[in-house]
Amino acid sequence: MVTYKTKTIYKCRECGATSYQHVIGRALNGALLPTGQYRCTGCRNVFATIRAWWEPRRNPELQHSTFG
Ligand SMILES: [Zn+2]
Repeated sequence: MVTYKTKTIYKCRECGATSYQHVIGRALNGALLPTGQYRCTGCRNVFATIRAWWEPRRNPELQHSTFG
């Protein structure tokens, strides 16, 4: 079985793993091809882009209380 494990300088925002794999899917002709998505080797989450894998999640619910 062929795996495409890629090591990066980045870390998974979820688990801190430093490598990911390309998600492999089966094409219509039966060939196994990368789907363009990425799977973390640590937490096994699938991400659409590398940036989504390492970029910290922003918290839109973060609110500042104001007084007066
Ligand atoms: Zn992870």
